[in-house]
Amino acid sequence: MATDIEIAQHADIWPIEKIAAQVGLTADEIEPYGRDKAKIKLNPNIVRGKTLGKLILVTAISPTPAGEGKSTVTVGLADALSLAGKKTMIALREPSLGPVMGMKGGATGGGQSQVVPMADINLHFTGDFHALTSAHNTLAALIDNSIYQGNPHQLDPRRVLWKRVLDVNDRALRHVTIGLGGATSGVPREDGFDITVASELMAILTLSHDLEDMKRRIEAIVVGYTYEREPVFVKDLGVAGALTTLLKDAIKPNLVQTLAHTPTLIHGGPFANIAQGTNSIQATKTALQLADYVVTEAGFGSDLGGEKFLDFKVPLLGKTPDTIVIVATVRALKMHGGKAKSDLAAADVEALKVGLLNLGQHLKAMQRYQVPVLVAINRFVTDTPEEIQAIEAYAEAQGAKAYVANVWEAGGAGAPELAQAVIESTDMPKNFTPLYAKDDSAVEKLNLIVQSIYGGDGVELSDKAQKQLQQFSKFGWDKLPIIVAKTQYSLSDDAKKLGAPEHFKIHVREFVPKTGAGFLVALTGSILTMPGLPKHPAAYDIDINRDGTITGLF
Ligand code: ADP
Repeated sequence: MATDIEIAQHADIWPIEKIAAQVGLTADEIEPYGRDKAKIKLNPNIVRGKTLGKLILVTAISPTPAGEGKSTVTVGLADALSLAGKKTMIALREPSLGPVMGMKGGATGGGQSQVVPMADINLHFTGDFHALTSAHNTLAALIDNSIYQGNPHQLDPRRVLWKRVLDVNDRALRHVTIGLGGATSGVPREDGFDITVASELMAILTLSHDLEDMKRRIEAIVVGYTYEREPVFVKDLGVAGALTTLLKDAIKPNLVQTLAHTPTLIHGGPFANIAQGTNSIQATKTALQLADYVVTEAGFGSDLGGEKFLDFKVPLLGKTPDTIVIVATVRALKMHGGKAKSDLAAADVEALKVGLLNLGQHLKAMQRYQVPVLVAINRFVTDTPEEIQAIEAYAEAQGAKAYVANVWEAGGAGAPELAQAVIESTDMPKNFTPLYAKDDSAVEKLNLIVQSIYGGDGVELSDKAQKQLQQFSKFGWDKLPIIVAKTQYSLSDDAKKLGAPEHFKIHVREFVPKTGAGFLVALTGSILTMPGLPKHPAAYDIDINRDGTITGLF
């Protein structure tokens, strides 16, 4: 069977101008990057006087190593909508390079449901992440230079919050000492590296409506504290203009296509645990203005990406989803029901039924927003009819219809019923009901998230987290929206508790203020912001030959 990259290498890729023309973009409105990629020029007047398209949010059950295939279903569903004659666009995140060299698994879908040129998108693409890495590290250098040049802002070198970033999985850089080498080489202090996608600038890139908005947000980033524990902002350093300049092209959405030529925007890639985990507002808005149906995806399960999309992104986007699709697989549900990864190919309706409780909690969580919710069963060749029927019956009993998406094998032609159901459900009445009010306290917001989304009892704050909230109220940050940084594998904060755990509390050990992005990160458990490489990194298997043909990249 052909691998994802082999399928992608044989794709009939259309010139990007032809893809742009499908959604009414003229040659003047795009900036081609080669033959098959383009940026869309910043143009607030791109609205063609039409009403915004329908927004379809694809999310999933709690991820397992068995894979759920959210991106595959997102792409396949969009191709199925295109096949049904609907003007459709996709809005996706850009993959991070670090994990591409670490663990197998890209972010451009799989099988016959992929976005191309897949190798480019998974490697350097249009350079946005490199620009972001440069902007981030420029700020880091400016901070250390300010301390070195007499420290006019009285920044306490022990309380600098702004670390450095790289788009490489490199655990050895998590904690470093900088400024060594004597008086002319800076002021020594402890520092560390995060992966580029964990940068607050990445969150800002995906939230900014335009360059002005981006500059304003960058100014509001808190970089550290003075010796008197007062916050120091980028505004104080006076460098927001320079940083925004470095991001002038990165802010523009990137246009590519699926194997079936559905226009696709891939833009921004914030982490789904420590940031909002969805593509940029710019891209989603542009797609809604150009197409009648927009399929977008939120990272990890509905408890992480889904909740953040609905509670944090929606108010900024000014558009609520018209339908939510939860992706589930027989294999992952069997793992939630206690089966080992090595046993997943064998049929086991009993284990599946236990695992379905995980789907049940995700359904309950999404249904509370009062938007139509459907289930897409991402079909694997090993699935049996009995297993598929068990999911369909369970979903129906929970008030949601489930549809098989055979899109990995057959592309858009593998999901006509799902596409039809999505089209019909987007026209159904809805009454979008946010989870929390802006003015709720951090603890109230967290309790609502834990109880209504995770199915737990409530939140418990460490002493440090409680003290931080008192301090933050002085600065006016205590009512910011909450981004929970939690393991993606469990609805609880214990990665080993699969299925639908009950009677648990979520333990917040620390808050991290992201005042430029405009949220407070609530850290639960040990969330790493610089991943490491596994024992057998994917880099061992990737190769390229004399003609530039890549092998082993998925
Ligand atoms: P996610 O978005 O949930 O991380 P992806 O859509 O990126 O998942 O898929 C991860 C991997 O699983 C890809 O390599 C893809 O080819 C593979 N995959 C997805 N769906 C299927 C399927 N139905 N059958 C076989 N492989 C699949």
